[in-house]
Amino acid sequence: MYIIDNGNQQWTNLHRTIINLPIKLKTLYNPPITTLASLKPLCIELEELIDSESGRIRAYGARWSLSSAASADSNGVMLEMANLNQVFRMHTYLDNSYSGSADRIRFFQSGISVRALNDFLNARGYALKTSGASDGQTLAGAVSTGTHGAAFQVGAMQESVVGLHIICGKGKNYWIERETYPVVNQQFLDALGATAIRNDEIFNAALVSFGSFGVILAYAVEYDVIYNLEMYRERVSHDVAKVFMEQLFAPDLSLNSNAITTIFQGITKSPTDAHHIEVDINPHDATASFISVMYKTQDMTEVPFCNPSGVPGNESITVVGKAVSILGDVFGNWLTGVLIPQFSGTITSQIQICKPFVRLPRGKMFDPTYATGGILSIELGINHTNISSTVDVLLALNSTIPFAGVFAIRFVKQTHATLGFTKFPMTCCIELPGVGCDATYEFYNNLYPALEAAGIEFTLHWGQMNDYDTNGAAKVRSRWGDAAVNSWLAVR
Ligand SMILES: Cc1cc2nc3c(=O)[nH]c(=O)nc-3n(C[C@H](O)[C@H](O)[C@H](O)COP(=O)(O)OP(=O)(O)OC[C@H]3O[C@@H](n4cnc5c(N)ncnc54)[C@H](O)[C@@H]3O)c2cc1C
Repeated sequence: MYIIDNGNQQWTNLHRTIINLPIKLKTLYNPPITTLASLKPLCIELEELIDSESGRIRAYGARWSLSSAASADSNGVMLEMANLNQVFRMHTYLDNSYSGSADRIRFFQSGISVRALNDFLNARGYALKTSGASDGQTLAGAVSTGTHGAAFQVGAMQESVVGLHIICGKGKNYWIERETYPVVNQQFLDALGATAIRNDEIFNAALVSFGSFGVILAYAVEYDVIYNLEMYRERVSHDVAKVFMEQLFAPDLSLNSNAITTIFQGITKSPTDAHHIEVDINPHDATASFISVMYKTQDMTEVPFCNPSGVPGNESITVVGKAVSILGDVFGNWLTGVLIPQFSGTITSQIQICKPFVRLPRGKMFDPTYATGGILSIELGINHTNISSTVDVLLALNSTIPFAGVFAIRFVKQTHATLGFTKFPMTCCIELPGVGCDATYEFYNNLYPALEAAGIEFTLHWGQMNDYDTNGAAKVRSRWGDAAVNSWLAVR
């Protein structure tokens, strides 16, 4: 028995936006592992479990999603996946036509945390191509909702996935990969007892499917040679930040080096080699926008933050979350009036500007977070050409409904995933982490109609909060379009 029945339980996500959901909890464990084929008994047990349950089944990772994406229906079955965290080399399992490097691809079980994954790779001289700004998610959780950083030439985390192992019921043990990018050979499929589905449309639909296609047991992920990130950061006014973002990309989506050199005068890096671009805005202070540009470098000498014990300030949801964790969940209840701008100021005051740069490995640049509770967050995906008008809508709304948080803006290349929220040719992702209080909900609820009224097309991150409780299906259809939704539903 590798799936343990924990009986009826109450399930709460990490940030307590879903509390005490009654569910049946089951935990998956690995069989004693020697080879890939050792996983077969677990696959068979899972196939049987799926067929034996009549209600909805949902696998979950680290419970970091603030939306209901990771939760089953009330009294449904939830599968804890985090113990499935092994890694296998793929050298002997690669198809002759695989065009990647055998040294830069591995088979990762779905429950491995992004942190453990990066640690594993770093110890062997490799690193993930990108990840979110914090790293406590599981691989499957992160990929299934379209988690991204700001590596605008790489895209979101799912772009590094080239195959996935999914169980959908008895006799439905599948390895899915693109027809246009074959990866594994028959020996691999035999080891897992899996049937291959080689089809681009199916692969792209399954990639971001938030637990609704089946239980994902593993992925084949491609990665890079290890690197450090060298970060340059400046504080500028809202107006300067807007001009920077407007001018950042040429019509062909190449980087406009002038936009970077105007802000970072004297930078010795080739501006167009930038890897990560991010802008954080305190909506209550027109002088407080922070532009961060990071470069990948093979120089492994670390140059730490000025205050190494302070918060690096790369992930606003983490900074807001830490502040609220310290102050307590009830904090939001008395956060009103002048205290709201003061709170946002406290958050952005932690964003460290260290000249000329900070140089750190990915795992130190984006620190782990243990913050729980008391925060809310949504994340918009918009076309980068709409950035100024969207910031204007946000600032106008903030003047009537003060927002107890910050606007965190990142740029992400278009995804291949059918329902990935980074769907625009260059998606500008605007994360709005705020304190858990009525005013934050009011801000979010008024934002969606305000964007619609301004004619700004947007999507929402599947792992953050959303407005899908009413007319969700129609909203998804209008945001992603009939072709994408019909394709995704047909594949499912
Ligand atoms: C502090 C914090 C920082 C964050 N930073 C970022 C960021 O920088 N960038 C960003 O894009 N997002 C960010 N997010 C959002 C976060 O990355 C996503 O919500 C992510 O999905 C969480 O991963 P998880 O492992 O907790 O998955 P969960 O929340 O547990 O699950 C997410 C989805 O994956 C599905 N799933 C999980 N495992 C499996 C499996 N084995 N098989 C099938 N389906 C599965 C679940 O059903 C669910 O639909 C952040 C969230 C927090 C709380």
